[in-house]
Amino acid sequence: MKDRKFAERFCAANADRFRLKDFDPADTMGLKSKEEAADALERGIVRLSESQEKLYAQDHWGILLVLQAMDAAGKDSTIKHVMSGVNPQGCIVTSFKTPSVEDLNHDFLRRTMRFIPERGMIGIFNRSYYEEVLVVRVHKEMLLREKLPAKLVSDEIWQERFEDINSFERYLTRNGILVLKFFLNVSKKEQKRRFQERLDTPDKNWKFSINDVLERQHWDQYMRAYEEMIRNTSTKYAPWYVVPADHKWFTRLAVAEILNHALEQLNLSYPKMDAEKRKDLKKARIALKREK
Ligand code: ATP
Ligand code: MG
Repeated sequence: MKDRKFAERFCAANADRFRLKDFDPADTMGLKSKEEAADALERGIVRLSESQEKLYAQDHWGILLVLQAMDAAGKDSTIKHVMSGVNPQGCIVTSFKTPSVEDLNHDFLRRTMRFIPERGMIGIFNRSYYEEVLVVRVHKEMLLREKLPAKLVSDEIWQERFEDINSFERYLTRNGILVLKFFLNVSKKEQKRRFQERLDTPDKNWKFSINDVLERQHWDQYMRAYEEMIRNTSTKYAPWYVVPADHKWFTRLAVAEILNHALEQLNLSYPKMDAEKRKDLKKARIALKREK
């Protein structure tokens, strides 16, 4: 299957008409099992590592990958598998948890802005500034902790945040930072199964947090917030991909293919050697030959 097929199928391209229910969390594009997807994933990982080397050598583009999802949707394991072939020096993962006191003393984009990848690098945001229109929207008391002047907090605030995020991403893309956003779309039923597995498997107990079960009670509010978020922030320059997450093996394959597709659109190549550089190489070759 061509990577373009994955990109087209899961891209929330018609943002205005986006509805979450049009995207099936259990979709596998006809693939039947992990084994069936394994070869394709392996090839995808190799291609990704080749593109990453060129990205680094060329040193013009930066890649920002944003991952958002409900708990247990597989963000961590997607990062682990998809990036397994990439040189660790070329990739930085940043996880955003509850904001610190210092974070809350600043505007909402500041904590993430500091970690925007430099040219040549792939930066992965495990959660992101999008939490500001998700968890903060579902738990409005969190907004109070952000210490905004009261007259700036109105019903328009979410719309304003969408606008600010869009402008920020426009700015990034105009500066050579490619922004790719993934919503790992897990079903409520599959989340329950994974929570139960975490409870029943001693080696997975540590992953379990009582807070996850409490957040689950707000499932419908979260889904509404995700839908609104995608409707308002899936743009041509920084699209959202709604990736099925009920089968982890498929999530990994889809993210790898979409990422490969996007990187290939950049036509990355190794820097060309100019005449002076070629002269240097020649000199170096001679010097090495002369060594005893
Ligand atoms: P895992 O559970 O796989 O370790 P996680 O990303 O769920 O990873 P947790 O420590 O469980 O990590 O949760 C982090 C929490 O921080 C989430 O509930 C998230 O909603 C919250 N969070 C992240 N960013 C913000 C923000 N800007 N404002 C408020 N809460 C936030
Ligand atoms: Mg968690």
